[in-house]
Amino acid sequence: DRIARKRDREFSQFRERLTDADQFKVEQSVFDDATFAALYKLVQDGHVDAFGGPISTGKEANVYQALGPDETDVAVKVYRINASNFRQMRDYLEGDPRFEGLGGKKKDVVLAWVKKEYANLKRAKRAGVRVPEPIATERNVLVMEYIGDETGRAKRLGEVHVENPQTAFEVMREYMRRLYAAGIVHGDLSEYNVVFHDGQLVVIDLGQAVTVHHPNSRDFLERDCTNVASFFRRQGLDVSDDDLLAFVTDP
Ligand code: ATP
Ligand code: MN
Repeated sequence: DRIARKRDREFSQFRERLTDADQFKVEQSVFDDATFAALYKLVQDGHVDAFGGPISTGKEANVYQALGPDETDVAVKVYRINASNFRQMRDYLEGDPRFEGLGGKKKDVVLAWVKKEYANLKRAKRAGVRVPEPIATERNVLVMEYIGDETGRAKRLGEVHVENPQTAFEVMREYMRRLYAAGIVHGDLSEYNVVFHDGQLVVIDLGQAVTVHHPNSRDFLERDCTNVASFFRRQGLDVSDDDLLAFVTDP
């Protein structure tokens, strides 16, 4: 009918605009119809006003800067279903009571992954850990608070000169303790997944974070402690992996 035709036409125009935009030129081939539809839905629902350039093009996901409502900036993380290592993703969903009964279908796993990242960000924020505020998910797309300013995305901990490593370390271990107390382990914590913004540390990339029910959660936690402690040892601090682990798990 007419309304459906109008809707189709609007969607085509939206898609054409995105595809023509310079910032999407390189990536256009990786966006399938369903991803365009998801981006369109996010625009219609008022979470995104206009798409900006890529912040990062990773192995499994691309992150874009975009304009949200009321002139705010948002970050849009788009998982590429076909590039996703879904076997590994499925392993990270194991034991998570929030995703019980998930089948083995690739698409379902990626979609659960995005919901998991959103839920992890919510839980971390509630636990008092500074993370990008999650805003919305649609299929393989996550919209969240943009961490950065006019000059660009916030720099990773590994990209800046850490003025006061002792303070930064104390904040990091407190974040890790709060996450653990809230029942989650980041699982990929290092100077690459923590950024510096407005004098604060902000933990990012919580997609792979698992609940403490996960059979390997202890291994992941130990690895996180090793990464974080060794980064701060390189900053001149005298900290051990074991002391950090003890601090984080101390009830
Ligand atoms: P990688 O494989 O490189 O770890 P990833 O696909 O797991 O990447 P993220 O780590 O979540 O994705 O994001 C990649 C990069 O995009 C980050 O290192 C950071 O610089 C930037 N980024 C992610 N989220 C945000 C955000 N909310 N605001 C600003 N920049 C962000
Ligand atoms: Mn990352």
